[in-house]
Amino acid sequence: MLTYETWEDKTQDFDSENSTKGALNVLKWAYETYNEELVYACSFGIEGSVLVDLVHQVKPDAQIVFLDTHLHFQETYEVIEAAKKRYPSLRIKLKSPALSLEEQANKHGDELWKVNPNHCCAIRKVIPLEEELNGVTAWLSGLRREQSPTRQNTQFINRDVRFKSIKICPLIHWTWKDIWRYAHKNDLPYNKLHDNGYPSIGCEPCTQTAKTADDLRSGRWSGTEKLECGLHQSQ
Ligand code: SF4
Repeated sequence: MLTYETWEDKTQDFDSENSTKGALNVLKWAYETYNEELVYACSFGIEGSVLVDLVHQVKPDAQIVFLDTHLHFQETYEVIEAAKKRYPSLRIKLKSPALSLEEQANKHGDELWKVNPNHCCAIRKVIPLEEELNGVTAWLSGLRREQSPTRQNTQFINRDVRFKSIKICPLIHWTWKDIWRYAHKNDLPYNKLHDNGYPSIGCEPCTQTAKTADDLRSGRWSGTEKLECGLHQSQ
């Protein structure tokens, strides 16, 4: 089994010239290789809606974790409920941070996301994912190369230095159009904020509508230098 220690570049092993641009091939390999030692960390944006559907085709009882910071939009919780109804066999878990919002405010001050968003993301996203990945060998993510310059070198199978894990990204070759074509064709549940100018959706205090149509992540941590929440820094 490929592990963090034995990682090798497997990009050439997967044909990306097919209808899912390699995604289903990668998922089949991933679940055959890791089975219960694979967790999908899903943010339930539109890429998440697509990847959940593809994962369900390959492993109907796959483990999916959503990092519930307690700061998400109501629309995000609604799409999670819709996914649970559509795919009842999937094991979808909402993972909370150790600190409640009140405890975080008492310990680190009010609205930490305004003062030190990296620290806030560490408490509410990075450490909880670290806990979820403890004991598993690999995780899945819906990253696409087109999303941002920080993601353009992402491979199907990545050596994830941050979590000492294997990070599998089946959607790297999908374009924004591919994603929506698939979502509409299959009538997938999706986050309704996408219809209101939010191409990328995270926590409510740190997400605004996109500034330009060319930069799909421009509404995230707008007005700061921050581009990623800390989960994908090795890319
Ligand atoms: Fe905190 Fe914002 Fe990160 Fe959410 S995205 S964990 S609110 S800094």
